[in-house]
Amino acid sequence: MNSDLRAALTSVRRRIESACARASRAPDSVQLLAVAKTFGADRVRALAACGQHAFGENYVQEALAKQALLTDLGLEWHFIGHCQTNKVRDLARHFSWVHGLDRLRLAERLSAAATGERDTPLQVCVQVNISGEASKSGCRPEQALELCQAVHALPGLRLRGLMAIPAPGVQGAGTRQAYIGLRSCFEALRAAGLVLDTLSAGMSDDFEFAIAEGSTLVRVGSALFGRRPAKDNSVPPIAPDHTA
Ligand SMILES: *Cc1c(COP(=O)(O)O)cnc(C)c1O
Repeated sequence: MNSDLRAALTSVRRRIESACARASRAPDSVQLLAVAKTFGADRVRALAACGQHAFGENYVQEALAKQALLTDLGLEWHFIGHCQTNKVRDLARHFSWVHGLDRLRLAERLSAAATGERDTPLQVCVQVNISGEASKSGCRPEQALELCQAVHALPGLRLRGLMAIPAPGVQGAGTRQAYIGLRSCFEALRAAGLVLDTLSAGMSDDFEFAIAEGSTLVRVGSALFGRRPAKDNSVPPIAPDHTA
């Protein structure tokens, strides 16, 4: 079982390297985040033993239970799920990164929690909706500058860049198109003076497209750990946020 994981990790790394080569980018310009949702602490431990250091989780309770079993490993945890305002304390305390920041109120709450819970700012990416009507999470590209400037000014947060998820069902050329839009949004923000070093984009089925469009961090689950149970085989549905 662990040799399967090792082989999968090698294969994903090779795919990243060839996508970088095709885009004339350095192979180390793309970081691999292993998305462990629905997989147990034993699988995370096994992948960590193969050299993987950064892991992504979508559900706070599931993540905390796993983290408690893995404290000896010193792993870097990224929260990539839908952020709920009533979870900001757990996010600030138990994660190094939060990728799904998409509204000012949440950013303010998260910053306040981070100021109380941490010695260093929480690293964040602002989530942009690159699929228009088809997707409900993420701010609209035309709102990104204002939101990023506000996040940049918050003391508990360190703005690293943008994150995006293509709408479920979008594939192939549609995905590529979405990542092209993401890249132009990212470049516009940098041209406006924001210092951003992270573009969190690309999953198992499409990360080559994302790397071609400048992704610096790919979030890969099933290509490493195998298929998830059918009910959670894609990006999870967005839970209503009653406290926002
Ligand atoms: C589940 C998930 C991933 C990983 O998806 P795979 O297709 O399994 O690689 C990446 N990003 C987010 C936000 C996810 O929810």
